[in-house]
Amino acid sequence: MKIDTSKELFEKAKHFIPGGVNSPVRAFKAVGGDPLFIKKAKGAYLYDEDDNQFIDLIDSWGPMILGHAHSVIEEEILRAVKDSPSFGAPSRREVEIAELIVSMIPSVEKVRMVNSGTEATMSAIRLARGFTKRDKILKFEGCYHGHGDSFLIAAGSGAITMGTPDSPGVTEGTAKDTLLAPFNDLEKVKELIEANPNEIAAIILEPVAGNMGCVIPGEGFLEGLRKLCDENGIVLIFDEVMTGFRLAKGGAQEVFNIQPDLTTLGKIIGGGMPVGAYGGKKEIMDFVSPEGPVYQAGTLSGNPVAMAAGLAQLHYLNTHPEIYAQLEATTNQIVDGYQSVLEKNNLNYTMNKIGSMFSLFFTNIQVTDFASAKSCDTEKFGRYFRSMLESGIYLAPSQFEALFISAAIGEKEVERIASSFESFAAGQ
Ligand SMILES: *Cc1c(COP(=O)(O)O)cnc(C)c1O
Repeated sequence: MKIDTSKELFEKAKHFIPGGVNSPVRAFKAVGGDPLFIKKAKGAYLYDEDDNQFIDLIDSWGPMILGHAHSVIEEEILRAVKDSPSFGAPSRREVEIAELIVSMIPSVEKVRMVNSGTEATMSAIRLARGFTKRDKILKFEGCYHGHGDSFLIAAGSGAITMGTPDSPGVTEGTAKDTLLAPFNDLEKVKELIEANPNEIAAIILEPVAGNMGCVIPGEGFLEGLRKLCDENGIVLIFDEVMTGFRLAKGGAQEVFNIQPDLTTLGKIIGGGMPVGAYGGKKEIMDFVSPEGPVYQAGTLSGNPVAMAAGLAQLHYLNTHPEIYAQLEATTNQIVDGYQSVLEKNNLNYTMNKIGSMFSLFFTNIQVTDFASAKSCDTEKFGRYFRSMLESGIYLAPSQFEALFISAAIGEKEVERIASSFESFAAGQ
């Protein structure tokens, strides 16, 4: 594979951008080799600056659930741009997208738009703290909630990929207010609540974790958290930046039938534009300024072009609910393909899968939390990544990320993915 142009761009980028990239995992550090610079994408395919073509199994880390450059979204973006890309004043689409989100996610009664998932989670914990008049939050090891200071403690995604789940620059004062429990460990949560009586404002988690690879909540885990929050006046926050509108129209909370108090959203909600949102119970959301005392603002929040893209994508998902069964069927085919290759080659790696998210873990133990995820052979993951890339399959460049299937992936792509995995596995 010829990647001269990408190499040239990366060399130049390193002079002007820290590490040559605007988000760390993109640098391919965990898998070796140089990152590819992408020129365009359409449907299921990415094209790099050297005109190599790849089947995309990341979907821009989730947002492109309909495939790239979907006509419905493209048209709405172009329509919005012509009326000026920004007003900094209220506009019609903000009302329409809020109404649509509230109709798709029953636990969300009011919603505030922001510009990223990071902003959504930062704002949600400030709100939970303001509402409960308590300082501490409880998060789970290996869950990633963006790069806000309070969350960069045992964080997943790029933080663990770079080997820095705890970042320098986060003050001790901030860190002491973040309590940690292993994912799926209800007993530990109980202990922490008992040890910190009336001090915990919120429990925040990815209801299905996607940032330590795909990790699924065990029987009774989410129900147990709901109950503990109710008994102790704690705000339950589901960070559905990744799972929202992906696992179902109403996200993981619909699949598991648990209503959190607050929900954070991002990725799919922007149709590929920079958008996030947080919402939930009216009585809590009415604490947000200017209705209430908790301050949160944004010059470009509710931006008309971003709203047009998000609205088009959410509207499409809402009016085509059959898409979720299709996504799941495609994902099952891919995962079945992987399983049969693993069996044929006597490899007993672990696969986790739910809806259109899955991960192959290079370990032979069940992956249910951060500790089991970290048992993976990341060297082997690197070989797998590079082998798939050579075969034209673009994976997330880290063991600790989930893969996402888009509606643009069909039979032809499913077969190519299986045969590419076969060539890798046969060489093991
Ligand atoms: C991606 C992600 C975030 C951060 O969103 P950004 O838009 O990258 O700031 C937060 N939480 C979860 C669960 C995510 O997957």
